[in-house]
Amino acid sequence: MTAPARTMRAAVITAPRQVELRELPEPHAGPGEVRIRVHATGVCGTDLHLLDGHFGARFPLTAGHEISGFVDEVGPGVLNLREGDLVALDPNLWCGQCHYCQRGQFQHCEHHTALGVNLPGGFAEYVVAPAVSVYPASGLTPDQAAFAEPLGCVAWGMRRLRPEIGASAVVFGAGAIGLLLMQGLLASGCAGVTVVDPVEDRLRLARELGASRTFTPHADLRSELLDANPHGFDVTAEATGVPAVVQGLPALTAVGGQVLVFGVAPEDAHVQLRPYDLFQRDLTVLGSFALNATVPLALDWLRAGRVRVEPLITHRLPLSGVPDALDMKANPGFQGAQKVLIVPGL
Ligand SMILES: [Zn+2]
Ligand SMILES: [Zn+2]
Repeated sequence: MTAPARTMRAAVITAPRQVELRELPEPHAGPGEVRIRVHATGVCGTDLHLLDGHFGARFPLTAGHEISGFVDEVGPGVLNLREGDLVALDPNLWCGQCHYCQRGQFQHCEHHTALGVNLPGGFAEYVVAPAVSVYPASGLTPDQAAFAEPLGCVAWGMRRLRPEIGASAVVFGAGAIGLLLMQGLLASGCAGVTVVDPVEDRLRLARELGASRTFTPHADLRSELLDANPHGFDVTAEATGVPAVVQGLPALTAVGGQVLVFGVAPEDAHVQLRPYDLFQRDLTVLGSFALNATVPLALDWLRAGRVRVEPLITHRLPLSGVPDALDMKANPGFQGAQKVLIVPGL
């Protein structure tokens, strides 16, 4: 008789808007893979879209893609990782064979899959990942390592933007991503970053993390911002996904400046831009999608203390807290939530 298979706990989305704590068979590392005992998984807007059945979600799904943990099983052919290593994950998996992969645009892979999106993710005790997507995170705390993915997205945004040394910047949105973006801009050479958000507590945190000025949105915001920066900002960026915010950015951008669209807007949203304005003032509008080989930069920012993430962690919940965590995500500012970490060991 074979021994009964061991099981692990996982918070599983079983149908739209339904999460259940389930016992699932423990996964094992195959060739080129490692198994990770999950330390923490950050909750993100993407998880909310998946909960609603968007982003091509197929149920049952163990969501969670901002994962840190410890290697506890190493498959054959793994070269660089050992049992016990603290690691951070890039949840995006790619084929290496398609048009985009062969040009190094891995996050646009035609056969893209992702842990926690269409493969089992981090709202579980264990997750299995290909070693190519697993990054040693020595020198960090396990909580810090859980920020590798969202901060890796910011790092990709900075690789796209390459701000001028000493640039002035404004960021709309002081949620967790907005505050990572603000710190990424400062770590990439911006001299000062102004932050706009309706929630005063978030603005206080923004100032604590290095924002030079903060504003709440109101009818006169534009003139107030331009009073403070009469020639506009060299970089205007948003981490809101709100189309009206995107539409307002060019008017705040300095001659020769850059507009960074970083938030996830509704897929069918449109904004109006004045082409003459882009032309006549030498403006650049940039998008930035996901991350591409930028986890190492994110980890270096954390190691060097250039980006601080501990103040962003407002809640640490066990697996049974996944439904509450998603509720907080659905109601921005609710219970002062910034980054909520799911910690299976709690
Ligand atoms: Zn995310
Ligand atoms: Zn590919």
